[in-house]
Amino acid sequence: MSNTYYIGIDIGSTAAKTVVLAGDAVAEAFTLPTGWSGKDTAETIRRTLEEKGYVGGGAEHRCTATGYGRVCVDWADKVVTEITCHGKGGWALFDRDCTIIDVGGQDTKVITVAGGQVKDFLMNDKCAAGTGKFIEVMASRLGVTLEEFYALAVNGAPLAISAMCTVFAESEVISQLSMGTDKRDIINGIHQSVASRVAGLAHRIGVQDQVVMTGGVAQNTGVVNALQGALGREIHTSPLTQYNGALGAALFAYQKYQKAQK
Ligand code: ADP
Repeated sequence: MSNTYYIGIDIGSTAAKTVVLAGDAVAEAFTLPTGWSGKDTAETIRRTLEEKGYVGGGAEHRCTATGYGRVCVDWADKVVTEITCHGKGGWALFDRDCTIIDVGGQDTKVITVAGGQVKDFLMNDKCAAGTGKFIEVMASRLGVTLEEFYALAVNGAPLAISAMCTVFAESEVISQLSMGTDKRDIINGIHQSVASRVAGLAHRIGVQDQVVMTGGVAQNTGVVNALQGALGREIHTSPLTQYNGALGAALFAYQKYQKAQK
């Protein structure tokens, strides 16, 4: 009997995430850069899945694509919107009514989930402030990697970064550096700035008692801590945080197949 795998692909603005389920258990999760061409990325994902034995050979697969580049996955059986997949993934990972705050490469989403259903959502206006891009620009300006970013901030004192716009905030960081301000304080201030922007968005649709943070930026504990302070709520994360949308998509592939079998 051949194995059947349920594949969820989330092609985001920055990173393309793939989750493979064997039944309802996660068998594989990997990330590739989205790059310039969503179609090329989708083909690279397919080749990677073939090499790993989840597509082709004796294996059967069902695939759902999501994310802004979802239409590029022309070999997917189904496409589902990001919000719906993030709602599904968040419910599976955290199993509670909650506010999901997803901070990705170029957008931030706030989603209210109750009873496993998306009840409301809001996305940031087309602006990099309060997204991963903001942090990437600042990290590059400060000459540190994303992984080093949080570690450096741990012992920093909060410094007010007053500019909300990425371009102006970058100028502010440059002038702080030229005044000899400690990098750790600047990074701490950047975390506070992102948290305040994201909290402002979250308050516009209301924040439930339970808050979970997903998206690549949820791996930055500095932002998570600053957001906890800004919202006055404990924030739950998961090792699969960046895969939330891809997990939701894979679960849709799994459920669609189960329904078809009945
Ligand atoms: P998108 O779906 O928009 O592509 P993701 O949710 O995949 O976004 O998140 C991508 C962002 O996550 C990147 O812009 C980067 O800033 C951030 N990121 C990725 N890895 C890490 C890490 N190890 N630590 C902190 N931030 C990270």
